[in-house]
Order: sequence, then C-alpha cells, then structure tokens
Amino acid sequence: MRLCYIDESGTPEIPGPTSHYVLVGLSIPADKWRRYFDDIEHVKRRYGLEDREIHVAWMMRRYPEETAIRSFGSMSFDDRRKAALEHRQASLSRLKAADSRKFRQQKKNLRKTDAYAHLTLDERRQLVRELAMLISGWGMVRMFAECVDKNHFVPEIAGKSVDEQALEQVVSRFERYLQNLGQDLGLLIHDNNQTVAKRHTNLMRSFLRKGTLWTDVRHVIETPMFVDSELTGMIQLADLCGYALRRYLENSESELFNLVFRRADRVGQTAVGVRHFTRPACECKICEAHRV
Ligand SMILES: [Zn+2]
Repeated sequence: MRLCYIDESGTPEIPGPTSHYVLVGLSIPADKWRRYFDDIEHVKRRYGLEDREIHVAWMMRRYPEETAIRSFGSMSFDDRRKAALEHRQASLSRLKAADSRKFRQQKKNLRKTDAYAHLTLDERRQLVRELAMLISGWGMVRMFAECVDKNHFVPEIAGKSVDEQALEQVVSRFERYLQNLGQDLGLLIHDNNQTVAKRHTNLMRSFLRKGTLWTDVRHVIETPMFVDSELTGMIQLADLCGYALRRYLENSESELFNLVFRRADRVGQTAVGVRHFTRPACECKICEAHRV
C-alpha cells in the first residue's frame, strides 16, 4: 500500500494573489510510515516544535520582534518566547487603538506564527532545510505535482477549473506509478480543508467510475481520506514540497526545490511525475526534466 499525502500551495482563483497554483502528492510506502514519522519528530524536537504544525510559508517570513529585541539570538528558547510574546502583545495594543484593519491582520499573523516565536529566522530556515533533506534522502518516496501557471490557463479551453485539472493530473500520475509497480494499491490523504473536501471527493468518485482523461483508475482506491494537517507530519511535508515548487517557479528560489525535486517520480531520465503547465518552450528545470 502507498499513502499519497496531498496538499496545495498558492490559490486556484484566477488571477488571485499568486501566479501559480501547485498541487502536490507525496507518496510513501505504508510500511515506511513509522520510520519517516520518527525522522520528522526527531528534527522537530530539536527545534522545540514537537506536536506543532510545520507551515513553511509562515516560518520563512521575517518576524519584526526578532530584530527589535536586543540579543534575541543568544537567549534560551524560553526567554525568547517570553520576550517575543511581550513584544507582540505591545505592538497589538498599539495597533488596536490606531487601525482596526491592520490590527486584525496582525492578530492573524501572530496566531499563525505563534508556535515559532522562540526561533530565529536562520533556525527556522535551517529546520525547513533539514526536513527537505529528509525528503530528499527517502529513496522510496515519490513526488507527484501539477504546477499551473495561471497566466496560461483558460478554464473555458481546459473545460475545468485550475484545481480540478491539478487533481486529475496528480491522480493520473499516481495511478500510472502504481500500475508500473504492479499490484500495489494507493490511498489519497488530504488536508481537511472544507472548501476543497467536497469537490475533491466528488471528482475522485467520478475518476473511480469513469477514469481520468489519461487513464483508468484501478490501483488508487477510495475517495480521499481527510486528516488534520496540524497533527499529521506527512501532510506538512507535502506542504513543504508545494512551497518549494511554487517559490522556485515564482521567485527562482532553488535550494529547497533542488532537494525535493530529487523525489519527482521518474521513468528513466524523465520526471514524469511533475509537470509545469505554462507557455511552450519554458526552460525551467521542471519542464526540462519533464521533456527529456
Ligand atoms: Zn517550466
């Protein structure tokens, strides 16, 4: 049995705030689950993040208190957290009186980054790098992804929405991979996101009955299982992969990308598992590896 953890990066709305929408499936053999789980926990524990969610986009941001608090980097984790929370509370109180819209935004920012308040930006980056290195080194993991450049996507021509196309592509490639393996079955595991849960369940039901545009679906079974991303380390790593792919395509950031792209499903030299849907003759590493 292969478990395929699905997560997205960017928004499927056109145009939306990001140029790309990326849907990732990270497949692991079920009998490796325990070992990989322990590997993730081991890394998170060293950064004081056991039982906390890794959400890469929020971790990679710069937090203002880090530069405002003197000697922040040389404090203990506990002292940093205490100082950071005090600083955050003071800045919130100032905003509350001055600007209610900024206050609400800032409150959300602080909630999303609360778990990481005891880490410096360098440490957060290093943690994410170490997790990407884990993925890179797990020889049995396969990454599937559809990276849609929304500037080149026309729903009327595609006959479907951005996220529908992405799911169809990821399911098709995961199914092909399982077909090539032989008898193994696969199960999709999704972040429990209410807005996509129902649509993806219905789409998957249709794939199971009629196949996708590209293949019969015989090895992927069931509609997606939904889990809480806060509690599921593997979903968080799918999130990391989505972040790495999107930041490579939108900002040419290649460090995390180079690590996780090693796990793209390949047939011979060709990275069949990951596609960049964009203009013809794109010269990015994904398109080059997909064309070989
Ligand atoms: Zn490309």
